[in-house]
Amino acid sequence: MVKEHELEPKLVTVFERAVREYARLFGLSEWDIAVSSKKDDSGDIASVALIYTARAANIAIDTGFDADEEEVRKSALHEILHLVLSDYREIVDSLLAEDDAVRRRRAEAAEHSIINRVMSAMEQGK
Ligand SMILES: [Zn+2]
Repeated sequence: MVKEHELEPKLVTVFERAVREYARLFGLSEWDIAVSSKKDDSGDIASVALIYTARAANIAIDTGFDADEEEVRKSALHEILHLVLSDYREIVDSLLAEDDAVRRRRAEAAEHSIINRVMSAMEQGK
């Protein structure tokens, strides 16, 4: 029998606190950020859904993962950095045709490249 992966419940709290902490650090007070947890099969430990115009975001952690505290904190930072970059991303998206999947993927890859650089720099600055 395959043991199912399950996130320790206390790590959901760690995630939510990390989201709030990073939102403060990056000055995202204009954003209404909801944090939720759910079990899904997205393949990502966490995700963010944005409504740019309302400055509202829902950051969700997938409880189907068996992650440790550091991974949970890193994924909170990753999703917050998507919010940090969201104004820029919105403009990029608006300039691309709806069906331009290739450029949309490149924009997403570029965004993740920036996120990874910032995370790496913050890691070294500890
Ligand atoms: Zn991402």
